[in-house]
Amino acid sequence: MTSKPLALVTGASRGIGRAIALELAQLDFDIMINYWDFNAAGEPDDSTAQQAQEMIQATPAKCQILRGDISNAQHRQKLVDFTREHFGRCDMLVNNAGVAPSKRTDLLEATEQSYDRVMNINLKGPYFLTQLVANWMIEQKKVNPERSFRICSTSSISAYTSSPARGEYCLSKAGLSMMTKLYADRLAEYEIGVFEIRPGIIMTDMTSTVKDKYDKLISQGLTPIKRWGQPEDVARAVGAVAQGRMDFSTGQVINVDGGFHLQRL
Ligand code: NAP
Repeated sequence: MTSKPLALVTGASRGIGRAIALELAQLDFDIMINYWDFNAAGEPDDSTAQQAQEMIQATPAKCQILRGDISNAQHRQKLVDFTREHFGRCDMLVNNAGVAPSKRTDLLEATEQSYDRVMNINLKGPYFLTQLVANWMIEQKKVNPERSFRICSTSSISAYTSSPARGEYCLSKAGLSMMTKLYADRLAEYEIGVFEIRPGIIMTDMTSTVKDKYDKLISQGLTPIKRWGQPEDVARAVGAVAQGRMDFSTGQVINVDGGFHLQRL
């Protein structure tokens, strides 16, 4: 068993997840990276995750990577078993993996196929991965009551903002928000803090296809803080939780959105 705390971060090959993994490595966590990457020819591609691993291994942290589809029950179990085998512990879970709909489609024409894909990855996956990891955390807490355990999930401003061309994404993030409350309530007796990290518009591959649209909206004042969010902005919020700076809070929403959530007149 590793002596350092271990953070398991889903969807950590790139984007926000990679930045979170790096932040936690710098805060002295060892890191378990999950990802599910395929190249343009549809073949498994581990190169992006390996790149993230190399970046983390340049810090004092140990880092393992494991390919796995977060929406698949067997893959989730394998991820937890692999983490146990290699690190023997899990102190922090970050449910970050998520997808946008492959194609934006109006609510009146949206398909069940896209609904199932997005809900399974963005909500069912984290819901049941959290169940697996929470049970393991409870087990660890009983043996080592002095240790601290925390869970963060990356939701979105879409948890409360209507985008009728991607209803399934909004629903999945609204669900993740309730998931945080449920687990925060259930796990409080074990002193396991559970947080929703709610990013606004963050510059990653996910938003690259709508960059021009958001460049314009941001310059017109969509967000009080007139700039794109960066993955590191989100990572620092997770870092604050990981360091125990919020240990008398749980079920909390942490907005990382340049003030988007403020209602203004
Ligand atoms: P991204 O750059 O597209 O990265 C998504 C990550 O999720 C990748 O590491 C990807 O792994 C992983 N992933 C996708 N499907 C997966 C699956 N089935 N199983 C396991 N991993 C999977 O997106 P991002 O912008 O960093 O988004 C990260 C999270 O933040 C998502 O939950 C997203 O909804 C949320 N968010 C993003 C924004 C934004 O503006 N970017 C705003 C609010 C919330 P592979 O590359 O290996 O497939």
